[in-house]
Amino acid sequence: MSAEPLVLVHGGAGSVPAASQAAHREGCLAAARAGGGVLKSGGNAVEAAAAAVEVMENNPVYNAGLGCALTRDGGVSLDTALMCGATLDAAGLAVLAPFANPIRIAQALLPEKEVLLAGEDASLWAESNGFSRLSADDLITESSREQWHKVVHEGASANFAGGTVGAVVRCTDGRLAAATSTGGTMGKTPGRVGDSPLIGVGTYANSYCAISATGEGESFMRAAFASRVAQLVRAGGCPDHVLEEILVLVQLRYGGEGGAILVTPEGGPHSFCTTPGMSHGWWSPSGEGCAV
Ligand code: ASP
Repeated sequence: MSAEPLVLVHGGAGSVPAASQAAHREGCLAAARAGGGVLKSGGNAVEAAAAAVEVMENNPVYNAGLGCALTRDGGVSLDTALMCGATLDAAGLAVLAPFANPIRIAQALLPEKEVLLAGEDASLWAESNGFSRLSADDLITESSREQWHKVVHEGASANFAGGTVGAVVRCTDGRLAAATSTGGTMGKTPGRVGDSPLIGVGTYANSYCAISATGEGESFMRAAFASRVAQLVRAGGCPDHVLEEILVLVQLRYGGEGGAILVTPEGGPHSFCTTPGMSHGWWSPSGEGCAV
């Protein structure tokens, strides 16, 4: 089977301020191209998804890695996941200490039997596998500190447009992969786990589709978001309709807004959000694009 390769990334659902829209667009495009570069040089879908997310983790515009959201007490607690649609190998890390690129830790965990590691032991596992722990200050930017102050001390609502990052990829043999990385919600309770590192909630891939979600994680968990979407796509549902139907359900029945990106073994890219926007970008050999 030969399919057109496709890399689709998102930079978080929410309302991106006008002043940051260009940076969001450029960041998405750069990440999608990085994933495309991996595919062009013979890399597989998992490698491309990890590379695309790594670029966004390194970009302080987004809420993952550098510039991530902070916990209520001003700390850093990172969530990430990566899944291969062909093998169903999956890896999630939750409540991770500061590391530059959590998605690379998920990639290292992928061949292991266990799917989800959390907390200090997850960070120790990362260190024992060659990753260097940073200090929180290495990831905290002036802007993330300002937003934290507004949310925690001035009662501003935590806006998702920070935003979580994700990538879904199809390579030439039609194999799929999904990756997500985040600092979570601004001002979250220390120890809180969002939807992003949970396989079948914020991140999922099989041979029918790959999904990365963003938004109010608790509602996505209550809705079993990604597994619900994947089941409907597998049953023959039109991916655009399925995304819209389940994201509207998450909003109306479970009370949370958000968005998601999705690729299937052919066609696409697919995306939808119930927030005012969701920055996203895509790359394929026949073209590329981005939107906020
Ligand atoms: N879904 C993420 C979480 O709840 C937040 C986001 O997408 O911005 O941790």
